[in-house]
Amino acid sequence: MTGSGETVRGRVLWSVGGIYEVEVNGETIECPLRGRLKREKGIGRVAVGDEVELEKMLDGSCVITGVLPRSARLSRRSADGRREQIIAANVEQLGAVFSVAQPEPVGSQIDRFLVLAESSGITAFLVVNKVDLEGAANELELFGIYERIGYDVLYTSAKRGKNIEELRDHLVSRITVFVGPSGVGKSSLLNALQPGLGLRVGELSRALERGRHTTVAARLHPLDAGGYVVDTPGLGRIRFWEMGERDLDRCFPEFGPYLGECKFDDCAHVHEPSCAVVEAVESGDVSPRRYESYLKILEEGEEGRAC
Ligand code: GDP
Ligand code: ZN
Repeated sequence: MTGSGETVRGRVLWSVGGIYEVEVNGETIECPLRGRLKREKGIGRVAVGDEVELEKMLDGSCVITGVLPRSARLSRRSADGRREQIIAANVEQLGAVFSVAQPEPVGSQIDRFLVLAESSGITAFLVVNKVDLEGAANELELFGIYERIGYDVLYTSAKRGKNIEELRDHLVSRITVFVGPSGVGKSSLLNALQPGLGLRVGELSRALERGRHTTVAARLHPLDAGGYVVDTPGLGRIRFWEMGERDLDRCFPEFGPYLGECKFDDCAHVHEPSCAVVEAVESGDVSPRRYESYLKILEEGEEGRAC
């Protein structure tokens, strides 16, 4: 096919079987990759979330001819543990959604999602949904820890429409991945943000759960207010990628002031003498519950880490 020489830029929303759904000036078009690009070194595969350059063909179709540099990406380990699979490129933030009750929040699960974000260089924030439910006070205390160590925590009720504006403001002009246990209200929140959006996301996830072993790419959903939310099929079983043993302590921001203060440079903050992190836990400056999560994830070793 003959090219027109005219190029445009777009954002990859989804891909399946070598065809890419690309958003160009607010419209969604389907296009293949130019053969030459597939063999270029360094780029690997074009991922969902990538910004791409396209060339318009004389018949009106488009071909992807180039990929712009990527910022942070969310990746997982392939099933055999050897390869990196990019879930989405250019992800700017991870919103971990929990509820005050039904289901009750589990601290260690919150910590895993935060470590996943930190290890990928992605900003994380927490969404605490269902604040309309009775008896929420105890559970709310759990989230205070995260506010104190610097995470944004949004308290919402999808049911009552509480703080939905605040959540929407948080998403504008960024690419956000939502994660969290099922039943906490992710679809309901997305529907409150933009009618119809949660339905699409929920349906896709359910369809993918049925076909467990198929690896299907995440999908970017454009928001009317600008920005995207990413649907992440199978993220419930994600195995972390790209985190060396030595780096886990850096995924706990409240350890920050103590790193480098331990007696040993390569201190793992477990049994070593004169460990500044352990001392901070003992003096109450670091939450013992958070430290337990650190030990647990450390113990699992690089291969076993998942959330
Ligand atoms: P998802 O699995 O995380 O996508 O959760 P859903 O959006 O499907 O919601 C799970 C259940 O929680 C549904 O029965 C919703 O009606 C309910 N739910 C969602 N948000 C709220 C909320 O803010 N308050 C209350 N009380 N229930 C909610
Ligand atoms: Zn130490």
